[in-house]
Amino acid sequence: MRSLLYQCPDLLVSCHNHSNWSDGAGDLKEVCRKGKEAGLKILGMSDHYVVPPGDGYNSETWSMKLSRLDEYIEVLSGMRRELEDDSFSLKIGLEVDFFFENIDEVLTKLSRYPLDYLIGSVHYSGKFPIDHSIDDWKDLTEEEKHALCEEYYKKLSAAALRKEFLFIGHLDLPKKFGLIDNEKYFSYALDVLDNAAKSGIGIELNTAGWHKECNEQYPALSILKEANKRKIPVIVNADAHDPAHLKRDFERAAAILHEANYTIAK
Ligand SMILES: [Zn+2]
Ligand SMILES: [Zn+2]
Repeated sequence: MRSLLYQCPDLLVSCHNHSNWSDGAGDLKEVCRKGKEAGLKILGMSDHYVVPPGDGYNSETWSMKLSRLDEYIEVLSGMRRELEDDSFSLKIGLEVDFFFENIDEVLTKLSRYPLDYLIGSVHYSGKFPIDHSIDDWKDLTEEEKHALCEEYYKKLSAAALRKEFLFIGHLDLPKKFGLIDNEKYFSYALDVLDNAAKSGIGIELNTAGWHKECNEQYPALSILKEANKRKIPVIVNADAHDPAHLKRDFERAAAILHEANYTIAK
């Protein structure tokens, strides 16, 4: 799987996708079948796996049930037997939330499972769910928003040092609702890139941002250009929560990557 990172971004690979095992809409098996029908070469499933480091997080509403990990892998292994052939392969992954308090424990536990890859993401600053709802942000002061963004990037920079992750998810996520000045956090994003370059992990161009209030892919073009300067591999992903979206906006992503000086596989 790591070899994927050393290829050019490939528009027939889609490795950040959710099913109704976490907060996606599609049945897990159906999403796999749709991925093959869509002509993908590689489909990776990456349902949320969130181990909160205490009480008061709302992750049980959108993460897979932690006790069902064996079953998740079993179902996907069955789909692999059903669907894999010379032109299609199915990868078993998870989108894992980074928390300082338990990341060692979580990654050690996951290393014992036959998983193909892990995405390292941050969805919480403290107990504040960064991307849950625009309403959570509306009444915050500028100082409060800044503190949340700082904490977010501190966590993401630490996540980028973990070689256990194949790539970092939606790098500049706090911009999602269009309520912060993303450029203000450019130097924070560079810290994440420096760490990713150090540990040899990748980032993604996540097309879901085009369908949120920010109306921009994650991360911004300026960050992708810096990633290219550091030779950080990029995977194009849709972060699909619906099986109809597994390749959504991939052509548009290719144009952005071209602007950032990446070569796209044909
Ligand atoms: Zn995510
Ligand atoms: Zn996701």
